[in-house]
Amino acid sequence: MARVTRFAPSPTGPLHLGHAYAALVAAARGDRFLLRIEDIDCARSRPEWEAAIFDDLAWLGLAWETPVMRQSDRLPAYQAALAQLQAEGLTYHCTCTRGDIRAALSAPQEGVIGPDGPVYPGTCRDKGHATGAVRMNMGAAMARLGAVAFTETGTRPGLWRYDAQTLCRDVGDVVLARRDIGTSYHLAVVVDDAAQGITEVTRGEDLFGATAIHVVLQGLLGLPTPLYHHHRLIRDAAGKRLAKRDDARALSKYRAEGATPADIRRMVGLTSAGTG
Ligand code: GLU
Ligand code: ZN
Repeated sequence: MARVTRFAPSPTGPLHLGHAYAALVAAARGDRFLLRIEDIDCARSRPEWEAAIFDDLAWLGLAWETPVMRQSDRLPAYQAALAQLQAEGLTYHCTCTRGDIRAALSAPQEGVIGPDGPVYPGTCRDKGHATGAVRMNMGAAMARLGAVAFTETGTRPGLWRYDAQTLCRDVGDVVLARRDIGTSYHLAVVVDDAAQGITEVTRGEDLFGATAIHVVLQGLLGLPTPLYHHHRLIRDAAGKRLAKRDDARALSKYRAEGATPADIRRMVGLTSAGTG
């Protein structure tokens, strides 16, 4: 079976060395390499950053299939998936602010931190609100699925299996649709990886904790679970991971200084043939 991989940047800033590494790993691991522009956060996404992404990736020597999927074109697909989960009684509306959630956690310093921050205490679960953010009822979801699992081929190789108790405690009722954008990263990424026929999701190990959520959603929506390959993060000299605001590490900066694509590969620890 052809291996299909993707690189899924958000056009909210310049690509830096960490993005270059992620894109190179994805491209090296796929027979087909796809690109997806994750621009659901319209307030932060800019067309000029998208153009810069294409320019940097082409300069690195990468080629991807067109047309490129853009999440801002896909809202109806996310709405359909959300409607399916709502119709099955696996969601509820939540009107809590961040402050409400903090206040509801009796000892926030001891609260469990999940993939999206403090695990939601379930305040709105039985309130029957008609509006607000849409949360997944993890207990109901896992009562349906029993357990979920995925195979990791990257930094923590093996079969990862999660039961209801673990996911309710460590992940909880995550947001599937933000009030402002009508979807969330989790819902969009699951719907899109399936639509693009991705066979191996490659991404940074900072997203390892989110994968259990994605596998739950795949189970509920009847979508296949791909392989997962989480890779190491590129860090600066002080050992701090790079972030979008670290413009000092922008690829464009190295390009302007005369670096070659081979220099970039070396800087992120890739030999010409390796996939890191
Ligand atoms: N768009 C995400 C990011 O920029 C990556 C999502 C993913 O690979 O699942 O970090
Ligand atoms: Zn709430």
